[in-house]
Amino acid sequence: MTETDTAKLKKFLAMVDEASEIAIVTHMHPDGDAIGSATGLFHYLESVGKSAVIVLNDRCPDSIAFLTEGAENHIRVYENGKDETETAICGSDLIFCLDMGAFDRAENLKDALQKAGCRKILIDHHLNPDTGSFDLVFSRTEISSTSELLYHILMSAPEICGDAGKLPVRTAKALLAGMTTDTNNFANSVYPSTFRMASELLAAGTDRNAVLEELYHCYRENRYRLMGKLLSERMKITPEGVAYMVIDKALAAEYDLKDGETEGFVNIPLGIKKVRMSLLLKEEEDRFRVSVRSKAGTSANLCAKLCFNGGGHELAAGGKLLKGGDLPENAGRKEAEEYVLEKTRNFLTDAN
Ligand code: 5GP
Ligand code: MN
Repeated sequence: MTETDTAKLKKFLAMVDEASEIAIVTHMHPDGDAIGSATGLFHYLESVGKSAVIVLNDRCPDSIAFLTEGAENHIRVYENGKDETETAICGSDLIFCLDMGAFDRAENLKDALQKAGCRKILIDHHLNPDTGSFDLVFSRTEISSTSELLYHILMSAPEICGDAGKLPVRTAKALLAGMTTDTNNFANSVYPSTFRMASELLAAGTDRNAVLEELYHCYRENRYRLMGKLLSERMKITPEGVAYMVIDKALAAEYDLKDGETEGFVNIPLGIKKVRMSLLLKEEEDRFRVSVRSKAGTSANLCAKLCFNGGGHELAAGGKLLKGGDLPENAGRKEAEEYVLEKTRNFLTDAN
């Protein structure tokens, strides 16, 4: 840790020490890094005698629910009760926002976050975080994940003192899982510090095989049936090298698709040499959620920002297309595909 990090760490420890009710918030549609960092922090706070609650906009997908083990009774979800989440956020005296650069990434929790007068700490690895909304900011983009950033922070805490073996076992497992999912199992956004983290955790006895088993060998069959259908029938590739696939509501219903079951799909077309950028669109009631991935030299972040009301990281980003806004009110797959085709063509033409 650098000198400024040391000063920040002192502040972090003092703020935790002075707090009695702590809320941990992460982004909507939580992924492995969001849930891994949130539960990792939860178990650390519990180990130092603090009362904490994890507040989510929407429920944790079944595919990563194993990460919530031991924290089940300390999770509040907006979808299940607006009042409970508002009370949890506004009744706390310290709020952590993890893996999200701005309040609006927590969708419906945004108002409560704005209203809450307590101190707020950001721990995040996205581009352009809204630092003005926080009293203390840990923001690094040259890092694999929020889970990794949190790992380095906790390793500097006096009771851990650089010894990964002193982290609560559940914290170690959750942070390893969060880093693993955000790097797509060490395929992207990996830095020397990422391998250091993995090495230290393995040396401390963290069960990586159990994490891999839970993350990659426990899906339902439907995920792979849908993957086949998408790749063989739905994937389109533009002359500019943009691959895109749209999952509309009918297809999702046909395959009984649940949140989290398309994890990683968007990366697959990048295996094709001529593909520079890959997009996956998923239809919801009022919008299409968009995932964007790119190869070096093409900015997924800029494309998400300019074409899909979003952002993220240079090579992995996301956004949305609103029906009755970007698209006609009754837009379906065809309109979404046309939009993608035109916008990405303009984006790549302007970028060159
Ligand atoms: P995913 O495609 O896995 O949902 O998201 C990829 C990355 O983009 C993640 O780091 C995620 O936080 C970010 N991201 C996804 N959707 C949005 C969005 O609507 N706005 C912003 N700013 N970032 C997003
Ligand atoms: Mn992340």
